[in-house]
Formats: sequence, structure tokens, C-alpha cells
Amino acid sequence: MARINGFIGRRDFLKFVGSGSLAIAATAISGSLIGATPKTAIADVSPVNPNPVNSNQALQLLLDGNQRFIQYKRQYPHQSLARLQLVAKAQYPFAAILGCADSRVPAEMIFDQGLGDLFVVRVAGNVASDMAIGSLEYTTTVLGTQLIVVLGHTKCGAVAAAIANEPLPGRIGYIVESIKPAFNSLNSTDAVIANVQYQAKKLQQNSTILAKLIQAGKLKIVGACYDIETGQVNFIT
Ligand SMILES: [Zn+2]
Repeated sequence: MARINGFIGRRDFLKFVGSGSLAIAATAISGSLIGATPKTAIADVSPVNPNPVNSNQALQLLLDGNQRFIQYKRQYPHQSLARLQLVAKAQYPFAAILGCADSRVPAEMIFDQGLGDLFVVRVAGNVASDMAIGSLEYTTTVLGTQLIVVLGHTKCGAVAAAIANEPLPGRIGYIVESIKPAFNSLNSTDAVIANVQYQAKKLQQNSTILAKLIQAGKLKIVGACYDIETGQVNFIT
């Protein structure tokens, strides 16, 4: 199997996902179908990842980084000019985060990571929307990321609004409607965790690509909850 970006080549990727429109879109992103477009404009084209990181190693890197964060021992890794220039050529994010848009939960800070380390999708309530799923399918199949963390947090306004179940203006309601089903079968003692588990399940149920990767042992999806008062990330097992 031809390997690109540490995981899977274009032809194998097409075979893997079938001949749907997503396959064409993802191939176009990788630069193969763009014709005259300069490859330098497509930052993700690169050879095999020289240092692939499996899901367990990725989880450990996140745990270690969060420990440094809560102990005020941050190393601010991978933020030099040299790193910027290196990842300009190719990116191999070792973990993907589906996190809340909340301003108090910036993934790179709370996990003490730098440029090119995390593929981060943030939306209020860490909702597994179609856009979020598409982004995660991209990083897992094209960039070779083997860990997805669905990261909720304490005092999440989106979860609180879903529990309150009151009419909301504009499109805020879309977010809340995507969270409400999380509480259907629960006493809702811990709504944030329920929402994380619900969204993690939705990622697998609504994405054949992610489900196949899990089956093939190439991907793990884990849930976690960030405590906005202590800075600690607790992984849900
Ligand atoms: Zn939130």
C-alpha cells in the first residue's frame, strides 16, 4: 500500500472510501487533481511520516502536556521559527481534538503543544456536525492522525442551554438541538460527559470512514472533560 503522509496513498484512499464525492474532494485537497496549481500552495503533500504516532502514544503526549499545563511547567514546544518552516512543508498532527469553541479551552495551550501537533476542530458544545466529521475524516485518512479526542468542559454554556430547553435566537438553536439527544436516556447527572459520549458515538455512527479506521486498528476515539477551574483534562474511559 502506497503511504502518503504516514498513512495511506491517494489510490488506496479512493479504494478505502469508495468513489463518493468526499473521495474526490479529499484527493483535490492533496493536490493530485489540481493540475497547474503550484504544489507549494497545498501544504499537505508530503512523503511518509518519518515518526508516526499511534493512538496510545498520542494519548500519553496529551496527558503529559496537560500535566505540564496544570503544574505551571509548560515547555511551549514546537513554536520556533525552525518548527514553523518544517511544518510549512508537511504536517503530521499526532492527535485531533473535537473541542468546544469556549474561549477558556484552547487546545494547544491546555495540552502544551505547538505548530503542527494538533488538528483542532472547535464548535460550541463540541458537536459532531457534518463539517466537523469531514474535517476529522480528512486528518485521519490523509494526514495519518490516529487519535481523536472529543473534549467537553465543565460549565459549558451550550450544554447548559440544551438542558434549559428554551427558545434561542438565530442559529444558536442548531447547536443546542444537536446536544439535546445526549440527555434522552439519562438522569443527566453529568450532562457534559453525556454530551461528550454522545458526540463521540455520533462520529462513528455518521462516518463510515472513521468507523472503518477504528475497525482496522488505525484510529481510536476517546472522550475527555476539561475542568475550567483547575485546568485538568480527565479522560473518560
Ligand atoms: Zn462549551
